[in-house]
Amino acid sequence: MEKLEQLYEGKAKKVFKTEDPDVLIVDYKDDATAFNGLKKGTIVGKGVINNKMSNHIMSLLEKEGVPTHLVKELSERETAVKKVEIVPLEVIIRNVSAGSFAKKLGIEEGRKLLCPTLEFSYKDDALGDPMINSYYAMAIGAATKEEIDAITKYAFKVNEVMIRYFESIGIELIDFKIEFGRYHGQIILADEISPDTCRLWDINTHEKLDKDRFRRDLGNVEDAYQEVFKRLGIQ
Ligand code: ADP
Ligand code: UDP
Repeated sequence: MEKLEQLYEGKAKKVFKTEDPDVLIVDYKDDATAFNGLKKGTIVGKGVINNKMSNHIMSLLEKEGVPTHLVKELSERETAVKKVEIVPLEVIIRNVSAGSFAKKLGIEEGRKLLCPTLEFSYKDDALGDPMINSYYAMAIGAATKEEIDAITKYAFKVNEVMIRYFESIGIELIDFKIEFGRYHGQIILADEISPDTCRLWDINTHEKLDKDRFRRDLGNVEDAYQEVFKRLGIQ
């Protein structure tokens, strides 16, 4: 499978057409951004890790009954995926207080939540991805009731599978963001699952093993990504 014309260059990935109208190739970059693009940098090796990790987790999720866009890993940084129409919602699940949740509610980072939460942000960089609820999402035509129900069901399933999996490799899943898309009338999981999009803490030391090291200038950013990658036990 070959890359044809570039469709899009995002902050973390480039997206290419292929000869198959149903298939795209994503190419993961080492570029890192935070705070809606205000902070920019490079995390050496990130593209390779995010590509392989995302594919590893998505294959696991497929086995657990969550449909995903994964078609085939093509190289260290490139993967063929089903071309979807992205639902313009960032779906965020939280198990432990952190980030914007901790700040907004004055609940210290690290406090375990009594139950997992789900929230939506409307994907619009110019607006700074504002948080919305499912009624807003339906009212603005971002998704239908049926789509929101499917997204909610899959998102909590993704959480269950990932909590268990990460626990088995000594990592606590604090929170994460996922995106879904429409593929021939079905909702499937798209985009990526990586240390860019999840908060991952060492289960014993609570050391941050994710993009917060970059966002907050904590140092050892590459080491944290490599540590997660090592624990995944993939090549
Ligand atoms: P951003 O757009 O936030 O800068 P990226 O650099 O990750 O993000 O760019 C990848 C883009 O491709 C995102 O807009 C994402 O929603 C989109 N995308 C991810 N998976 C698919 C897919 N299977 N089909 C179509 N678009 C996708
Ligand atoms: N997240 C993401 N992309 C975004 C915003 C958030 O992948 O544009 C992830 C982030 O890595 C974290 C979770 O979603 O795992 C919750 O992020 P939060 O709302 O706390 O925002 P932040 O503190 O990152 O601004």
